[in-house]
Amino acid sequence: MKIVEAKCLDCGAKYEILENFPKELLICPGCDGKNIELKKTDKEFRGCGGGCSSCSSCE
Ligand SMILES: [Zn+2]
Repeated sequence: MKIVEAKCLDCGAKYEILENFPKELLICPGCDGKNIELKKTDKEFRGCGGGCSSCSSCE
């Protein structure tokens, strides 16, 4: 699963979300704004740290 970089257009805060996170639920953690710009990254989400073979990143 890919990570998406989210940037708040109101306060400039940047954070990362998973690509399947519902866009309508996106709220800036800094200012509670909903003016979020999304940018896809090449980073893979690794919930386990890698190599466990039981999560979607390691299958
Ligand atoms: Zn903000």
